[in-house]
Amino acid sequence: MNDYLRSDLKDLKPYRANVAPYRIKMDANESPFDMPDRVRKQLAEELLAGSGLNLYPDSDATGLRKSISEYCNVHPDEIIVGAGSDELIQVIINALVDRGEAVLYPSPSFGMYGIFTRIAGGIPLEVALKEDFCYDVDGFYKAIELYKPKLIFICSPNNPTGNILELNKLEELTKNFSGVVAVDEAYGEFCEYSAVELIEQCPNIVVLKTFSKAMGLAGLRVGYLIANKGLVDQINAVKPPYNVSSFSQRAAQLVLENMDIIRDRISKIINERERLYTELNSVGGVHVYPSKANFLLIRVNDADEIYEKLTEEGILVRNFPGNQLLKDCLRITVGTSEDNDIFLKTLKQILPSIR
Ligand code: PMP
Repeated sequence: MNDYLRSDLKDLKPYRANVAPYRIKMDANESPFDMPDRVRKQLAEELLAGSGLNLYPDSDATGLRKSISEYCNVHPDEIIVGAGSDELIQVIINALVDRGEAVLYPSPSFGMYGIFTRIAGGIPLEVALKEDFCYDVDGFYKAIELYKPKLIFICSPNNPTGNILELNKLEELTKNFSGVVAVDEAYGEFCEYSAVELIEQCPNIVVLKTFSKAMGLAGLRVGYLIANKGLVDQINAVKPPYNVSSFSQRAAQLVLENMDIIRDRISKIINERERLYTELNSVGGVHVYPSKANFLLIRVNDADEIYEKLTEEGILVRNFPGNQLLKDCLRITVGTSEDNDIFLKTLKQILPSIR
């Protein structure tokens, strides 16, 4: 086969999700709860009454944006809906970053900021977190001075470390920066902070949210961003048309109409996260990092071996082979209390056989 791939992307590998068979899935920070019965029934009834799926979806997701605007207390014109926040990360970069322009983001963090920056021809630049994984805000200021980036990503709570960047520090950083700060709050529902409250004072902030985590719709690919209308208009210029299916838009809207169920699930997960944290903290040979998300990062003696043994037992967690900053770390998605018990029991059985 001729080599057609762009010369600057030759070392880019296709994204491969873990496809090992499993009993318990704790590797991708999904919700352990299926779509609420009420939502499934309503969707089924609407589908049987006539699907309308022969027609393109509403390209502007008008109904869903209205529901999100009520949920987030912002104007519908301050919202863009995307096929997961993944798509919106790419749309933001494509809209704002010129070829050769720098994009800053923390490290370790979510991998797509760097990948989409490269694809757009920008220069990805990592700002290392501190040793305890706290944000090094001074590191960001220094990198801004040095590289004059157009765009900065802040992931809060950060994936995979679970820590946040405090709102006062975020506000100060945003006000002292002439480019755009994109705050990825994919896990925002699991902590009590949101940068959405900064949008009025900071016209250069974009907040990214998703229905894939707390809302439990990872399979339907719905995300959204919130920003000042002027910035939304600029980013919208790049958004592909008809990017979110009608079915996904409607399901997300129905989930927002059933937030009583979702809120209850979120508090269950937070309680389980705290329980799992306490239990893991008392296990010898495990260091657990505090987390404001629906996952916990642990450091162990031999992450590869523990990962293999957990996989053999049908428990999928996330490992980070080859990443020096995350050497011997595993990321565990908080599951149902039954899942968490099985995970804890299995881990405790495995640990004595590890060097
Ligand atoms: N941001 C972060 C920090 C994530 O961890 C993820 C998914 N793992 C995403 C964005 C993308 O989520 P989605 O496209 O499902 O909204």
